Amino acid sequence: MARPQPSHSITTPALDREACPCGGLTFDDCCGRYLERGDIPPTAEALMRSRYTAFVRHNAPYLLDTWAARTRPATLDFDDAPQWLGLQVKAHRQSDDSHAEVEFVARYKVGGRAHRLHERSRFERSDDGRWRYIDGDLFD
Ligand SMILES: [Zn+2]
Repeated sequence: MARPQPSHSITTPALDREACPCGGLTFDDCCGRYLERGDIPPTAEALMRSRYTAFVRHNAPYLLDTWAARTRPATLDFDDAPQWLGLQVKAHRQSDDSHAEVEFVARYKVGGRAHRLHERSRFERSDDGRWRYIDGDLFD
């Protein structure tokens, strides 16, 4: 008879315990809920954060799925994607049950140079209860 293996001897690296790209404590407790477990972001800000994380993780299906049909691109690729460095949400304003704006600054790096994307994004909530990105205005 084989010697029983201690049940807690193997520890796998918990990748999803890493910090969430959007600034949340852990990916698993933050945007992982929406990107990987199908939870619906309750607010436009939560959706916006999860979309930023999807850009970081090159998750095209999630991005397309959370984009309003009328402004959604046909496809998304990440060939020229910048290296995202961090997200700061500046303001979240919900004007009614189905419309909201989120202002944020996302920092990124291209060819060794750091840049800032400062945008006010518009979101709408459809009858299915899901917030989706419409479009945005750039500052600067
Ligand atoms: Zn997050």
